[in-house]
This record gives sequence, C-alpha cells and structure tokens, in this order.
Amino acid sequence: MDTKAAGIVYLVGAGPGDPGLLTVRGRELLADCDAVVFDALANPALLPAPGADGRPERHDVGKRGGSAGSARQEEINALLVTLGRSGKRVVRLKGGDPFVFGRGGEEAFALADAGVPFELVPGVSSLSAVPESVHIPVTHRGVASAVTAFAANDVESLDAAALARVPGTLVAFMGGARVAQLAQRLIENGKPAATPAAVVSRGTTDDEQVVVAPLGAIGDVAKGLPTPALVVIGEVVAVRAALALAAHAVA
Ligand code: SAH
Repeated sequence: MDTKAAGIVYLVGAGPGDPGLLTVRGRELLADCDAVVFDALANPALLPAPGADGRPERHDVGKRGGSAGSARQEEINALLVTLGRSGKRVVRLKGGDPFVFGRGGEEAFALADAGVPFELVPGVSSLSAVPESVHIPVTHRGVASAVTAFAANDVESLDAAALARVPGTLVAFMGGARVAQLAQRLIENGKPAATPAAVVSRGTTDDEQVVVAPLGAIGDVAKGLPTPALVVIGEVVAVRAALALAAHAVA
C-alpha cells in the first residue's frame, strides 16, 4: 500500500504585483511547500529560493513559448495533478485573486476530477488594488455605488450596450492593448465621451504608470503603455486628483 502522505495543491493569490500584498496565509504556504507553479503575473520576488534539499522545485508555466490557450491550460492542469498525486505540497501561485479572471475554477475542477485535494487561498485582486494604488476608489459614496468588472480581451463580443448603460464604475481586465477600441464601442452605445477614464499599467509595482483622460481621448493617451494594464471608467476617476492632493497634504 502507498503510505506516502497525500499531496495537496494550494491555489494561492499572489496579489497584484507589490510583494507586500501577498496574504499571510500565502506567505506561510510558500515558505513550506515542495513545489511552486507560477506564471507571468506573479511577482518573481515572491518565489522562495530553493534550499539545500532543492525544495521547493519551481515550475514556470508563464506565457513564453509552448502551446496557446486551452491546450496550455490543460498542460497546467495536468502538471498540478501529477505533482499533487506524487504526494507533494504544491503552491499554485496566481496573479491577483485566483478566482478573478484567473482560471482558478478550472484548475480546482481538474484537481477534484483527479481526486487531488486542493485549498483555495484568496489574493488581493487588481480589481480594487490597482486603482487604489493610484488613488482611485472603485466605489465612492455619492459618486459610484456599483462596480462592473469585465474581460476586454475580445471587445467585439462585449455587450457594449449593457456596459454603456450600467451605473457606477467599469473596470476592464485584459484590455490594455485595446483601450481605443473599447472606448469607441462604449461611446457608440451611449456612454458619454466626457466620462473620466484611467489606464493603470503594472499597478502596485515599481514600473507603475497611470494615464487619465476623458473616455473619448483615453485610447490615444494610453497608447503604448506596457501590460498588464487595467482600464477604469467612471466618475470615480475624477476623485483621484483630490485624494492624491489630500494624501500629499498630510504626508
Ligand atoms: N486574477 C487577476 C487577474 C488576472 S487577468 C487579479 O485578480 O488581479 C489579467 C489582467 O488583470 C491583466 O490583463 C490586467 O488587466 C489585470 N492586472 C493584473 N495585474 C495588474 C497590475 N499589476 N496592473 C494592472 N493591471 C493588472
């Protein structure tokens, strides 16, 4: 009989970039695991250096090379299953929160299907942390009492009419390279071109950049910003200047 302790896979949110935004639970797990499976969005500074025993082994499943899309995801799922089955304590480190546009659910189902135990460890999502890092609150009393997050990697397939109508703040993930196209579709569907908008590139990291412009101009202004980038649209963007000033005044 196999007496080896059963393995487990922890799906851990790495936070948006700043290593200080990893949770305490995430840090504990990283400090005592046999393998780390990470991708491009997780800050390399978070990865524990292998000890004399070679633990933890590192598996980079980032974007570079290999197959694309769902095939890649299947390879990652298979790797997690193999490592878990071999009795290892595995940290699957994912940018932000694993369940916010992170495909964490797919990995959890794959593990469950294979009979491998898993635990979910939430992370600080870029959804609120990246805007906050540049003094934009995604909700603000009297300004926005709703926030709609959506994936903008395929702008053509978005329900732009619904997005243009929904009150409150819009936060677009994976839209960094398509800001102009996104803005145009929203404006065509009735969103005022004067609506304040911001694009935050590499938020919470040393390379952070932010640009602010009315929706009608944000595409031009944000052109060429490095990814990952988050697009924030709504009156909350206009709160930023006052908040930044307030922060400065008391610093
Ligand atoms: N699970 C992640 C999101 C993964 S989808 C989370 O909870 O944050 C990847 C998208 O997230 C990127 O295309 C970008 O839109 C956004 N994103 C993630 N980290 C970011 C960062 N540091 N700065 C700006 N946008 C970021």
